[in-house]
Amino acid sequence: MHTTASDGWPSPAQLVDHAARRAGLNVIAVTDHDTIEGALRAAEHAARRRRLHVIVGEEVSSRDGHIIGLFLERRVKPGMSAAATVHSIHDQGGLAIAAHPFWRTTRQVRNGPVHGVGWLAAELDFDGVEVENATPGFYLFNQLAHRLNLGLGAAELGCSDAHIIDAVGRAFTEFPGTTTEALRRAIESGETRAGRQRYRAMGLMRYAAWGLNHERYVAVV
Ligand SMILES: [Zn+2]
Repeated sequence: MHTTASDGWPSPAQLVDHAARRAGLNVIAVTDHDTIEGALRAAEHAARRRRLHVIVGEEVSSRDGHIIGLFLERRVKPGMSAAATVHSIHDQGGLAIAAHPFWRTTRQVRNGPVHGVGWLAAELDFDGVEVENATPGFYLFNQLAHRLNLGLGAAELGCSDAHIIDAVGRAFTEFPGTTTEALRRAIESGETRAGRQRYRAMGLMRYAAWGLNHERYVAVV
């Protein structure tokens, strides 16, 4: 999930409050683009609540596409190869997830075109593959990721990739247990299951608004 620390709309505190009260989630991973600041603030805010646990993560813009690092202690710098990025995540005890591996767009941001790592998801030492991404319009990319992972047998993850509150929980990962440690064990042993839930109409409209606003933001950058 993304916060105001990168291109998300909710602040870390708003995200935590919503996920705890409304979305029925036990664990969330805050993974802002190329920074762990949002995740650290979310974790601090959640520490005062009993039910919701926050994993400190980052969506790293590697040279070869987006890679999610979970259970991070330090920021992983963007711009490295996918192999070096996965290595750097593992080096600090984190888990590396191939985010939306087959998503492609020609949109340019500061660090180059935006996309997933594609078939590198099968070649590198990923701990899991995101097979359900809740971004509207990702159906085909998700199908391809499912296919890829059938052959791989890596842990499957459902991630909302939420940039707005309405997206929280629209894709999710089921696992035995309710804590960050339990999720980690489930990923490591391949016991996760990715799920999906429909958007409400208002949520889709707000996502469209976010998209417009975000394009403008990207153009200015
Ligand atoms: Zn991404």
